[in-house]
Amino acid sequence: MSVELDLSRAPAVSAPLNLAGLSRAGLLQAMVNAGVEEKKARMRANQAWRWIYHYGVTDFGAMTDVAKEMRGQLASRYVLERPDIRDMQVSVDGTRKWLVGFGPGVEGESVFIPGVGKAGALCVSSQVGCTLNCTFCHTGTQKLVRNLTASEIVGQVMIARDALDEWPTSNEDRQLTNIVFMGMGEPLYNLDNVAEAIDTISDGEGISISRRRITVSTAGIAPKIPELGERTGAMLAISLHATRDDLRNELVPINKKYDLQQLFEAIRAYPDLSNAKRVTFEYVMLKGVNDTLAEARDLVRLLKGVPSKINLIPFNPWPGTQYECSDWDTIEAFAEVLNRAGYASPIRTPRGRDILAACGQLRSESVKQKASERLAARLAENASRE
Ligand code: SAH
Repeated sequence: MSVELDLSRAPAVSAPLNLAGLSRAGLLQAMVNAGVEEKKARMRANQAWRWIYHYGVTDFGAMTDVAKEMRGQLASRYVLERPDIRDMQVSVDGTRKWLVGFGPGVEGESVFIPGVGKAGALCVSSQVGCTLNCTFCHTGTQKLVRNLTASEIVGQVMIARDALDEWPTSNEDRQLTNIVFMGMGEPLYNLDNVAEAIDTISDGEGISISRRRITVSTAGIAPKIPELGERTGAMLAISLHATRDDLRNELVPINKKYDLQQLFEAIRAYPDLSNAKRVTFEYVMLKGVNDTLAEARDLVRLLKGVPSKINLIPFNPWPGTQYECSDWDTIEAFAEVLNRAGYASPIRTPRGRDILAACGQLRSESVKQKASERLAARLAENASRE
């Protein structure tokens, strides 16, 4: 006889709420829930905000302008934690990759790439796994486990700040200056959480990374593209990879739903595009697939009238892929066509390939669990904590 688990009657096993990663509204609510008088709650939330996002504290005891009693009250209800770091690898080129645990069996990756952007860029994940199945992408071989929450996205940034020793936030000599949503997942399928995370990361009284230094990359979820700009003010990147619908249908299958015409209509509707705010077009160089000079010329034609930058990404191989990277001469000849059309330095140097941290190489072992399996894992984790 099999026994069915009745989840509705399962004991509550929720962990204490983590304040690190919350929005301003979330923090305010947490103060109210902790019994702070409504009149004072806003002030307390603002104080906590500074401690969490400007100073990066992980201990309520460090909040020296908050009354001792209040600190104790907060500590008894809440925690100030980062997501778990389950592994960290450093590439020969200085790129660092973290395997970040968001819960039992839920792991994603983030990558810090020095020397990219103004000083260095952190590539964050917005989902664990992905639904898109782009044929050349390693993450595409992993099914979607779940969307990350805004807190979990912000947590990735806080982990990098900890590792780089960049608290409190300073305006000088930062190593982490840019954020790219180019890790695992499709950010526009998780736009609410991505937008909330961007509000938190860009807040000038906290982590303070300007919206102009935050780039969101999408495989082309056309109806969400203008909304992304309106809600976040972030820079837009498009994973284009092909100039014709038939080939793009094969490489980036979401193209069957939103074809190139719909995609470009959506891109043209992105707010505030100008020479100072250009769209980045990513184009992976796949040997014998999309790398002819005729395609380079098609690319120039396709982008006409859209303020753009082009990023040619040499294909990064991963175990089991059927694709190869185009020859270097081919990439240079392709780039030369783009150069002559006015696109400066379009080749993206592969970074962190030795630790599978380069574009499209991210993948974790996490698989989606049934609700009953999730509950069992959480119970086991709680039991091991006790
Ligand atoms: N889902 C979003 C975010 C991922 S960004 C998007 O598709 O834009 C990761 C970038 O790396 C995308 O442009 C993706 O197409 C590209 N990429 C994926 N696999 C790659 C690989 N093996 N080599 C080089 N680039 C790859």
